[in-house]
Amino acid sequence: MTNKTGVLYVVATPIGNLRDISARAIDTLKDVSRIAAEDTRHSKKLLSHYGIRTPMTALHEHNEAEQSAMLLKLLESGEDLALIADAGTPLISDPGYFLVRTVRAAGIRVVPVPGPSAGIAALSASGLPSDRFVCEGFLPPRQSARRQRLEALRQESRTVLFYESTHRITGCLQDMVAVFGGDREAVIARELTKTFETIQGGTLNELVAWLQADNNQRKGEFVILLHGAPEPDRVEPDARDLQVLKVLLRELPLKQAAGLAAKITGVPKNRLYEKGITLKRDDA
Ligand code: SAM
Repeated sequence: MTNKTGVLYVVATPIGNLRDISARAIDTLKDVSRIAAEDTRHSKKLLSHYGIRTPMTALHEHNEAEQSAMLLKLLESGEDLALIADAGTPLISDPGYFLVRTVRAAGIRVVPVPGPSAGIAALSASGLPSDRFVCEGFLPPRQSARRQRLEALRQESRTVLFYESTHRITGCLQDMVAVFGGDREAVIARELTKTFETIQGGTLNELVAWLQADNNQRKGEFVILLHGAPEPDRVEPDARDLQVLKVLLRELPLKQAAGLAAKITGVPKNRLYEKGITLKRDDA
């Protein structure tokens, strides 16, 4: 009799191409005593492909609370378990949050086995700013609620990532045109890692026209990446801006130094001119 508790492994699986699975993910799925899967029939194909015969238990949004209690008992009795989604990383617009929270609250170890995620794959190849981004997941299916959610993102300056289905892709892009204007840049990443993978960038207007021109481009699974809103103009120079101004002032007359510093830093010229007067006075 052992009192050692098990470990819950959160395992990422492919988003299309079955070869996008890590060696560690395969080992883990073979070694655990049970796999909690969103749709067991769907995941059977992946498991059979890799000769994994571990029993599965369904864990989806309608049974997550009851199943989590049952899975927690198994972990407490010392069994190691894995959680997988239909595709990609569990919990990312997929079930598992309740289970992971429950298991961690019980003091049991949760270990990620990282791998594909559609949004991150799309972002990595989109050419849009990737240093700061937000994931909005799926927008509401009804237009009024969808527009409301988009309105709340009007000032968002980070790249925004959305998941979308084939039925709503055109409507969703049209709503984005209505809220953000047709000139905002975006990227549609469709069927990533699959035969018809397409990554199309352009303005929102261009992307709507592109979708409407070709039925085939509206089929499959989509990630939409929206370029963030331009940052509001900066008014106050920070320490680095002032340093730039100081260096220029050593070589140039005030007016010219302020003009050049404005171009370099983005701070308005008249504000830098005023600061320049103070700097010159302090130096005198
Ligand atoms: N947990 C998943 C992940 O980490 O990628 C996302 C799950 S979410 C329920 C499914 C959505 O992800 C799809 O509707 C689609 O928007 C996006 N998606 C999944 N696979 C994709 C693919 N191969 N290409 C583009 N988008 C994909």
